[in-house]
Amino acid sequence: MPPIPGKACGSCKMCCQVLEIPELDKPAGPDCPNCAGRNGCAIYDARPNVCREFECEWLGERSLGPRLRPDLCGVIFFVDPDTDEYRAVSHPAKPMAFRAPEVFKHLVAMAKAGHVVVAKAGMVSHRIHANGQWGPWV
Ligand code: SF4
Ligand code: SF4
Repeated sequence: MPPIPGKACGSCKMCCQVLEIPELDKPAGPDCPNCAGRNGCAIYDARPNVCREFECEWLGERSLGPRLRPDLCGVIFFVDPDTDEYRAVSHPAKPMAFRAPEVFKHLVAMAKAGHVVVAKAGMVSHRIHANGQWGPWV
């Protein structure tokens, strides 16, 4: 999904922080050691394809407003390519950020649209249901 006009990563680097990147032996949680330099990446020209190709949902989804940019709301949204789950991964420093009203409203809407919605907070995963209930997900 291409970025929609008016949206850009800007100072956000949530995908370089919270996601696991097996190609770099980077675990989920800590910053990628390459977070620095031009465009926020010290190896920008040699970054792996997974970095070149990744775009979070916020970039391409018009309904996600400016306050839901991942670094501002503390949650990154994406569709897991292996499970097709709609994932909301909170920054380790804000593990319950997915419960913020605007974020949670979006997650419930995605569940109502038929997605399996999973919010990850540290090592814990929660399933978000279309009726607004949420609970542990294994
Ligand atoms: S999380 Fe989204 S908005 Fe933030 S840097 Fe990554 S792709 Fe860009
Ligand atoms: S290699 Fe660069 S683009 Fe990829 S996660 Fe690390 S800092 Fe981000």
